[in-house]
Amino acid sequence: MSKSTHLAHRIQNLQPSAIRELLKHSKMPGVISLAGGIPSQELFDKEGLAQATQMVVDKNFNDAFQYGLTEGNVELRQQLVGLCRERGITTNPDQLLITSGSQQALDLLIRALANPGDVFVVERPTYLATLQILSLTEARVQSVGGDEHGMIVDELEALLKTTRIKCVYLVPTFGNPSGTTLSAERREKLVKLAIEHDFIIIEDDPYGAISFTEERQKTLFQVAAEMGNHENVVYTSTFSKILAPGLRVGWVILPEWMKQKVAIVKQATDLHANSFSQSLVAAYLTLGRLNPQIALIRDVYKQKCLSLSRYLQEELGEHISFNQPQGGMFLWAQFRYEFDTTKWLQQTLEKGVVYVPGEFFFSDNADKKTLRFSYATATEEQLYEAVQRLKSAL
Ligand code: PMP
Repeated sequence: MSKSTHLAHRIQNLQPSAIRELLKHSKMPGVISLAGGIPSQELFDKEGLAQATQMVVDKNFNDAFQYGLTEGNVELRQQLVGLCRERGITTNPDQLLITSGSQQALDLLIRALANPGDVFVVERPTYLATLQILSLTEARVQSVGGDEHGMIVDELEALLKTTRIKCVYLVPTFGNPSGTTLSAERREKLVKLAIEHDFIIIEDDPYGAISFTEERQKTLFQVAAEMGNHENVVYTSTFSKILAPGLRVGWVILPEWMKQKVAIVKQATDLHANSFSQSLVAAYLTLGRLNPQIALIRDVYKQKCLSLSRYLQEELGEHISFNQPQGGMFLWAQFRYEFDTTKWLQQTLEKGVVYVPGEFFFSDNADKKTLRFSYATATEEQLYEAVQRLKSAL
């Protein structure tokens, strides 16, 4: 018998990421990648990060290099209360847990909630790595469709008539991969349903700050708080897209009933998030540079998004359609006719351009004619060239 039978059943069944396989050639010289959700490193605030690093070494050396609290650096949590306030969220340091990116927050939350057979609802399409976390549990995944206004909450309501739901996971603002934002009306309805049917909402918000307009949707957390509910919505966000992903610093706001248990799961996982990174972010936040940094990211991504949209419209508009993103890093598109974007990738790769085929973002009912472009990493010239290459691959 193969030794791999020693692996736990749920691990034996794990599949390697098909995307990774498909995209392993995308790092070849000359290939333009519109695939990865990778922030533009030209925009990293080198001066501010260097200054903050020096401050940590000079003033906070011991904290930065010593073990710390599982809940996270106290100063950072205090500053996060202010940052959350700017997002319309009222919280306090005791409710916050600093995590190794929001990816870890998702993992801790799902592990803390999922019993075998519990139903977790995701959007169709949804964030791939959350599907991966769910595949490590014995929870059941059900999906609800999305349109240009985000998750179709009426579909969720219909599902609730027949199914007991434990948790709904969504990226309500500038979604990955859909780029869409849940409308105010749907936000309200979703939160009401959560209260009425007592399910948990995991609100994953890495992109909310990267808005291309002045229009803001309230977070689901805020919508619930305004209804007097502080129990059903769990909010997570991260410094990955607004400062630097390599820091691996994110946070989650935990309701009272989850706080202690999730901290224990975190403790069992890694004791606490990286002390140096946490001290660094805390120092950075005292410099007053984060908001200008976010403004810069918003401006640059907005321009790139407009450019990519224009080129796609002009060159490929008769073949594909898409909604114009209002923020975030992704443009989600679909062919106007039946088409297999996974197969097509081989041809576009030969022409020197890659994207992510849409089917991987679906837990079921995959729509093979969809695809995701990221405009964050490529330069303006590369975006133009990429679209020319896509056209020649058709
Ligand atoms: N959620 C979503 C929707 C994301 O797109 C990402 C990053 N790709 C994450 C969570 C995780 O980000 P991080 O762990 O870097 O904070």
